[in-house]
Amino acid sequence: MSTPLWQLPAAQLLALLQQGDVGAEELAVQFLDRIEMLNERLGVFLYVNPEARQQARRIDQRRRAGEPLGPLAGLPVALKDNLCTADMPTTCASRMLQGYRSPFDATVVERLRRADAVVLGKTNLDEFAMGSSNETSYFGPVRNPWDAERIPGGSSGGAAAAVAAGLAPLSLGSDTGGSIRLPAGLCGVVGLKPTYGRVSRWGLVAFASSLDQIGPLARTAEDCALLLETVAGHDPRDSTSVPQPVPPYRQRLSEPPRQLRIGYVPEHLEQASEPVQQAVRQALDLLVQNLDAQLVPIQMSHARFAVATYYIIAPSEASSNLARYDGIHYGYRADEQAMLDQLRRQREELRRAGDDRGLEELDSPLVRLYRTTRSQGFGAEVKRRIMLGTYALSAGYYDQYYLKALKVRRLIRQDYLDAFEQVDVIAGPVSTTTAFALGEKQDPLEMYLVDLYTVGANLAGVPALSVPCGFDSEGLPVGLQLQGPLFSEARLLQLAHHYQQHTAWHKQHPQLALQV
Ligand code: GLN
Repeated sequence: MSTPLWQLPAAQLLALLQQGDVGAEELAVQFLDRIEMLNERLGVFLYVNPEARQQARRIDQRRRAGEPLGPLAGLPVALKDNLCTADMPTTCASRMLQGYRSPFDATVVERLRRADAVVLGKTNLDEFAMGSSNETSYFGPVRNPWDAERIPGGSSGGAAAAVAAGLAPLSLGSDTGGSIRLPAGLCGVVGLKPTYGRVSRWGLVAFASSLDQIGPLARTAEDCALLLETVAGHDPRDSTSVPQPVPPYRQRLSEPPRQLRIGYVPEHLEQASEPVQQAVRQALDLLVQNLDAQLVPIQMSHARFAVATYYIIAPSEASSNLARYDGIHYGYRADEQAMLDQLRRQREELRRAGDDRGLEELDSPLVRLYRTTRSQGFGAEVKRRIMLGTYALSAGYYDQYYLKALKVRRLIRQDYLDAFEQVDVIAGPVSTTTAFALGEKQDPLEMYLVDLYTVGANLAGVPALSVPCGFDSEGLPVGLQLQGPLFSEARLLQLAHHYQQHTAWHKQHPQLALQV
């Protein structure tokens, strides 16, 4: 029996579409059917595009009519639900934006449409992309296709699980501190966070603007190359996007980088669990043998401060970015009755606390609206970030927290620059363990520590990817992280591609996906 279409990498699907062996509509229907069958169990999609089939059919018609088509013509793509789409809701998995419709498409979405990709729908995430497990979504968690009682990783949990379960061959996610790489690693797919500035964030709902990047998730490095070259490039609407030409990433995959110096941080390997260590060490051995590479132990002396630094900077920026959700401009607005109820409660609390100023503010209808809308619209983790950030930025604490974090960020960045004088890439684990159980980590600090290996690349702005490199004894995927100098995406993709050509981890499918 031939391989079902949903198991094939996007590059192969593209070839079938171009040769006319498969129609765009046929392909879209196959994925839509799978979404229908599996989505309730996995919670991957928050919204399925009702026009997807029709859009695919039009591409078939245009192909038959001999019209010129875009480079991804007919390929289905899933979008993380913090990417703005004019024809579908954009919720950021928050009650605050439930039912919100953006008046415009994000630049990456515009580029996908221009390339004639077919958008299947919007995928679940941690609320406003804040989280590492996808459990903070207002609409419920995503489940890991390899074990539905476990987390898929976050915050792009839906994006990664969609690819792993064969609900979409390609996904776009966003990565502020690991949100593409972590779920890619825990779901056994490839995910790439590009260099800061490589992809326009116009139309990506902002979390922490000095860290946010959009990037691809797919089964193979080749598919990621295909998606990245479609969405990357300068955009005058995002002033941080860099006016540098986009290399033909896919075409360049066939130049495997020889005699590379591959750096690794010995402590990072040692901190990881036994199965993660084992898989990563084996992957490194394979790269060394195959590519005549050299393994170089390196030091990143400020890496141990990365999580602390990130969790000052990201919440600070978030507290400012999320100030716009006021009940007036976007999405949710508390209703009159809820407001009056809350008002009564708040009055009582403030009176008890003897807070006269607070009581006075409550008399302002505007403050009342803000307070009630924001108390009801945001979930606990988002509120925690807003409070942390507001505190770190407040007069009297600014120097001690925010400013200090900026200085340490500089040192972390310098560690990377120094390292890349000695080595061409840095390899290591994506996370210390494989996917943990839903509900297992209740302590926010414990959850923040999951980002140990991923936040560094965001703080430094460098590109980093995760590629599947094995399974633990319970059949859960392990990810290998490769980080490179600024704008070295081509090299990272070449290395990952080469690795995938000599391994078959990415050709395995979760049992749950095979059952339907
Ligand atoms: N887990 C990190 C956080 O919670 C990173 C999230 C992200 O990259 N969007 O902030």
